[in-house]
Amino acid sequence: MSQRLLLFLLIILLLPHCTSPIKPGHHQQIGLQPIGHYSPDQLQFIQQELTAFFKVPVIILKEKEMPPSFINLSKGERYSADSIIKWLAHTAPDSITKVVGLTHKDIYTTMKENGHVKEPSYKYAVWGIFGLGYQPGRSSVVSDHRLQTSDLSRFRHRLRTIVIHELGHNQGLPHCSTQNCIMNDANERIQTVDQSADTYCPVCKSKL
Ligand SMILES: [Zn+2]
Ligand SMILES: [Zn+2]
Repeated sequence: MSQRLLLFLLIILLLPHCTSPIKPGHHQQIGLQPIGHYSPDQLQFIQQELTAFFKVPVIILKEKEMPPSFINLSKGERYSADSIIKWLAHTAPDSITKVVGLTHKDIYTTMKENGHVKEPSYKYAVWGIFGLGYQPGRSSVVSDHRLQTSDLSRFRHRLRTIVIHELGHNQGLPHCSTQNCIMNDANERIQTVDQSADTYCPVCKSKL
């Protein structure tokens, strides 16, 4: 068998697991992975919302400790979202189609431009974020550290929006410029999240 054919077959075999949209009746299930102690009420809220939205089973996995090596102390205590999603993709049970890591800790990524840290680098090397997910892929992470507000319904809207946004990336969706689409790039503006609609816009839906 030629190498090219082998590669093609491998891609075909791997694709359904990675890029297929989350749809009921395809033996798909979403796993919620608490990282460190995580609020049981919040876990239950996310479980209910995702079950209603995707109509697939959503299971809560056994709590895992945050690997200490993921910490960065240059701007207070932040954890590498890139390391977290890589770790979750490798360690989640095979039966889980998509795994969402959930943490109360602050998380960061490194913003890049043309292969280098975006300037000014003091700002973008350890850039705090709400969530990060492979596009496409199997894992994401969502932190509520930057979503806090005393208004519970607003907080829950923020949390739900970020989780469904990251699962959109997992299903292969890029950022979307349709006004208020849940796949808008929040770019650290909480207002974008607050104004977000409850679902993917028609353009995004047509890609799923
Ligand atoms: Zn995004
Ligand atoms: Zn959209």
